[in-house]
Formats: sequence, C-alpha cells, structure tokens
Amino acid sequence: MPKIYNFGAGPAKLPEEVYEIIRNELTDYEGTGISLLETSHRSQTYMKLNTEVQEVVRRLLNVPANYKVLFLPAGGQGEFAAVPLNLMSRTGTADYVVTGAWSEKAAKEAKKYGKVNLVVPPTNRYTGVPDQSTWNLDPNASYVHICTNETIHGVEFNFIPDTKGVPLVADMSSNFMSRKVDVSKFGVIYGGAQKNIGTSGVALVIVREDLLNQAMPICPSILDWTQTAKNDSILNTPPMFAIYIMGRVLQWIERKGGLDAMAEAAEKKSSLIYNIIEGSNGFYYAPVAKNSRSRMNIPFRIGSSGGNETLEKEFLKGAEAMGLIQLKGHRSVGGIRASTYNAVTLEEVQKLAQYMKDFYAKHK
Ligand code: PMP
Repeated sequence: MPKIYNFGAGPAKLPEEVYEIIRNELTDYEGTGISLLETSHRSQTYMKLNTEVQEVVRRLLNVPANYKVLFLPAGGQGEFAAVPLNLMSRTGTADYVVTGAWSEKAAKEAKKYGKVNLVVPPTNRYTGVPDQSTWNLDPNASYVHICTNETIHGVEFNFIPDTKGVPLVADMSSNFMSRKVDVSKFGVIYGGAQKNIGTSGVALVIVREDLLNQAMPICPSILDWTQTAKNDSILNTPPMFAIYIMGRVLQWIERKGGLDAMAEAAEKKSSLIYNIIEGSNGFYYAPVAKNSRSRMNIPFRIGSSGGNETLEKEFLKGAEAMGLIQLKGHRSVGGIRASTYNAVTLEEVQKLAQYMKDFYAKHK
C-alpha cells in the first residue's frame, strides 16, 4: 500500500503528532489509570479538560471577555437549528446570505422557526460572494447569517460584512482556526469540529453574552446556549472524546505558531494548486471567482467548464493508485475537490501538485 495523502473534505486529516498523543493517552489519561472514554463527565479530570479546551480557544482567537465559549452536541447542523431557536425570537425574522450548499441548508432549517429573508438572489450556481453593495439586508432582522467557507462549492469570504448593528452569525465549520478573526465583529461564531479542529459530533460555539437569554420556549434544552453556558457545557454527557481531540488539535496549532502560521500555510498550499489550474490553459477549471476562492476546499473540473467525466475518472483512479485519496468532488457538483486544511502539510500538497502537472502534461 502506498503512503496515504488524505485530501478529504471532512472528517478530514488530523495532525500526525495529535495521533501520537491520542495513542499515548488512550488507555491511561494523564496518569489516572483509566481512559477518558470511561471517565465521568462530572469528574475533576473532565472538568479540568473542559476548562483547558475553552482556554486554548480563547487564546488562539483572542476571544473577548464578554463572549462565552461553548461545546454543543450535534455538530454543525445542530447549530443550523440552534441559531434560530436561540436568536430569532427578538423579531421573528432573520437574514441569510446564501453562498453555497451549506448556508442554503442553514436557511432552510431556520425557516422552520420564523421568517427568512434571502439577502442575495437565489441561484443554483455558487461561484462567489456577491459584493456587499448588492445585499438586501433587513434592518429588522434578529441576525444576519453567513457561512465563511462553503465546503462543497469552495467559496470563502475574504471580508467581514458590515451588518449595521444587527448581530452577525457565522458558520466557520470549514475554515475555523485557519486565520485570525476579529471575534468582536461577530455575535456568534460556530462550527463542527471535523475539518480543521478535530473530529465529528461536537460544535464549537462562541457567543456574545448579550445574545443569551432569548431562546424560544420550544428550544430543546440541549441546544439552548444559555442553559449550556450556565452548566459550563456539561448540561448532559458531552461528546467528551471529540472535545478532548479538539483540545489536542488546538494545542498543536498553538505549538505550530498559532493562527498566523495556519494562515500563511493555507495561502501557500492553496495557491500552489490554484496556480496550476490557472497555468493549464483551461485544462483544469476552477469555477469560483478569484476573490472568493477558498483556501480550504478547492473544487475544479478537468477538460472544460462542464467537466470531462472520463478524464476526471482517470484522474481520480491515477491519484488513488499513488495514495492521493478522497479527491472526488461532492456528489452534487461532481469533478474534483482538494481540501487543504490545517493538518494537510505543504509536502502533501506538493505531491498533489506534481500529480496534477504530470496528468496535464500527459493529456494536454
Ligand atoms: N457547515 C459547513 C460549512 C459544513 O461543511 C458542514 C459539514 N460538512 C456542516 C455545516 C454540517 O456539519 P455536521 O456534519 O457536523 O452537522
């Protein structure tokens, strides 16, 4: 079996160093003689870990004191429901900026709980973030929701929108901790952990305190940020192991130089691939506008803008034979998608880049 290079969109590659730590700690967690997997969530051991993980989140993102750092079950989509349930009661309406499949799904979920205003015209071809001057914001909205990185379509925000005082809520599932973020510009930041910061099953939620205490009465307690905050994210048995892995990944990010180092690496890795696409005379084709191209997920077609499926199949087969795996585009868009999250190294991306060059040379 060749060495494996994992470009999957999520659950995605974890840093090798983190695996080593997990292996070492698996059956004897910090000298307790037992695994964290069989430790009580009410124990001192877990409470210490719970605090440590919150603290590393605060350090990395420089989270202001008036924000709570919470761990919620049910991943990213759990928060698609939690956001309206916790925030929409103020005016009964919310703004959604739909720039890809994930924000579309978030908007659909929110419609169950109130009125959703679509800020940009609906489309079935997501190729960029429309200029903010064209947005139709509702001043009466309880919040404005964006997805800062669309994992399927490869559309990433390169700016923080001005929402004229209406709380900005951001799904950062697929670009969390990949660059510095001014948290004070957001009401809520949330994301599932399984791309840049850990494994599936847990959402990291950072919420400004003045947005608590307004959940709808029907909000399930388990999705209620206020109750979660009051219970220090131990409202029920939390996804402890996923929270532990998140902590170890975030500590690894810190050791590697923090978010500036992650941002620099992301820029290098993604431009390596985009430059090959651009230099291929249309053989490779990236549909997303240059100013919205994701540094995390790079979708592209081969052959023409429509995609030559025979060539794409051959590309994927050849890639797999070399150990370059999970490069198939999402089934809704087809083609190829290379995900270059924090844990994917420059050397791994160079390997893919070389394969793309060779494939182009063979078929041009
Ligand atoms: N938002 C984004 C941007 C995502 O990429 C995903 C998962 N791919 C989700 C939300 C949903 O996350 P989960 O599968 O943890 O519910």
